[in-house]
Amino acid sequence: MKDNVSTAIHAKQSVPQQDSLFQTYRWVLSYVQKYYGMFWLLVCCGIGVTCIQVSIPKGVQYFIDIIVPSADVIRFRWLIILLVAGMFLMFGLMAWQNLLQRSIQEKAARDLQYDIFSHMRKLGYSYFQQRPVGESLSFMNTEVSILQDFYRFLLPHTIQNIVVSIVSITVMCAISIPLTLIMVPCLLLYYLVGPSIERKATILAKQNTEQRIAYNQKVYESVSALTEMRAHGAEDWDWKRFKGHLQPFLDGRVRMLWMAFWRGTIRRLSYYVGGVAVILYGIHLVKEQALSVGEMSAYLLYYFQVMQTVTLVITVITEQKVLMHQASRIHRFMQTEPEVDEVATPISLKEISGEIRFDHVTYRYNNGPEVLSDFNLMIKAGQRVAIVGPSGHGKSTLLQLLVRFYDPQQGEILLDSVPIQKLSFAQLRESIGYVSQETYLFGDTIRNNILFGHPDATEEDMIQAAKAAYAHDFISAQPDGYDTLLGERGVNLSGGQKQRISIARMFIKKPSILLLDEATSALDTASEQEVQQALERLLLGRTTIAVAHRLSTIKDYDVIVVLEHGQIREMGSHEELMRRQGVYYQLNSGEEG
Ligand code: ADP
Repeated sequence: MKDNVSTAIHAKQSVPQQDSLFQTYRWVLSYVQKYYGMFWLLVCCGIGVTCIQVSIPKGVQYFIDIIVPSADVIRFRWLIILLVAGMFLMFGLMAWQNLLQRSIQEKAARDLQYDIFSHMRKLGYSYFQQRPVGESLSFMNTEVSILQDFYRFLLPHTIQNIVVSIVSITVMCAISIPLTLIMVPCLLLYYLVGPSIERKATILAKQNTEQRIAYNQKVYESVSALTEMRAHGAEDWDWKRFKGHLQPFLDGRVRMLWMAFWRGTIRRLSYYVGGVAVILYGIHLVKEQALSVGEMSAYLLYYFQVMQTVTLVITVITEQKVLMHQASRIHRFMQTEPEVDEVATPISLKEISGEIRFDHVTYRYNNGPEVLSDFNLMIKAGQRVAIVGPSGHGKSTLLQLLVRFYDPQQGEILLDSVPIQKLSFAQLRESIGYVSQETYLFGDTIRNNILFGHPDATEEDMIQAAKAAYAHDFISAQPDGYDTLLGERGVNLSGGQKQRISIARMFIKKPSILLLDEATSALDTASEQEVQQALERLLLGRTTIAVAHRLSTIKDYDVIVVLEHGQIREMGSHEELMRRQGVYYQLNSGEEG
């Protein structure tokens, strides 16, 4: 019976259901859980600062009601001493608060970035084939910085402002309950109009997030495709597309800020209207001697403080909702299951000889048509196999299944008689060297680009590898030899030179199996010959599967497989296939012609 691991893995759908904002909120909060102690300390500092601020109106009341009528200098001095001490304490607490805020914000954001990054690695190749890279970059930068605001400002301020509002309203009630009741209609006025504006602001902010992500993707795409754009003189076309993304983003921002202005205006209006009512009714109470002048002054100061805090609580809660919409994108991304999973307890092979067997392998991308259909192939250790055939018939897919970028829906691939799904990713990928059409070189020294194949290798090993790959001479001719820095994607090297660096990587990695995916097809004839020479050496004694476009490069391979519609059409050595005068023969005639 077939191993059903692959089917089970495939059954996991990549994109989960739309999660509720509450779940997102809990997930976002989980990143501060680790810093619990610091977080509550931060809230306490905030409450401490506000308590001192709250006590200032009381000091004013004391000054007007007690000190001024009695002209008591000693009390006045004490009041000044207390005020100064309070101020020092407040600044001390504020400094501490700031330090805690930064620490929590940075630590939580760092943890989040670690998690996003490691999740990206777990999702691997298949995910990035389907999603734009700009989106992932946006997750790492913009979305995380938005969440930093949540940890630094929104969350502690919500808690702190709620506590402060309760304390202040209690003090206000203690001064005068009728005056405090005046606040109710003012808050109602805000509630009447405020939430609808807040809701609009939420929607606009959500739209703006989408626009920002699309814009980021576009910038990434334009920068990545700079060479193609120049080559095709498509700068104007790209410029229009760029503007097409930037303009809606900027317009969206203007609309969002306009809404924010109205939100602020309504808030100010509601507490100024209330302020006038408090003053009028307060004067009346003072005249009636139900309230002292000091109490009235203190009350007014509290009033403005409380109105500001309470309306701020409403705003902060709405802003959190907006933020959760933005965070839900990252949350959904974090819930995406990898299409290919590593087995929990892998089988460890001491040595890999390199025997490969495709056993009834069937594969299709995302429920599309079958790319490989019941494919069977046995490759002995050390054998060289070339896969040829028309494009789009599954050749590269075959190699990608072998390195487990994807898993087949049916059948299995065995390495040294062990299903590759039972091996660890590390062992599988260490034993396989993959050379594709385009080599990615890091913006680092040539040395590090070669050592990437095996970071612990010695300098001597590295030079040997470069020599074996016919790369030593051109590297030595560079201004700083092995220490020459390569630009992004190694733009200062030719295609052939880049390929030879990637072959040097393989010499140092020493994999038992080599996969060549049209490794030389992007090169001109002169470079191809150089690379071909290097490859000849590399292939010695290694199981090799080469997808080849130019048939001249694979004539001496042990087995040539002609693949059509994901199935083997013909198979044999060059001579056998030429004698047969079938598809391979025709392909060869086509190439020669
Ligand atoms: P070949 O190497 O023979 O040119 P491929 O293995 O690259 O062919 O592709 C086989 C088929 O699978 C093609 O029809 C191609 O469009 C499709 N395909 C390749 N990669 C993907 C992908 N990531 N998502 C969906 N379809 C894909």
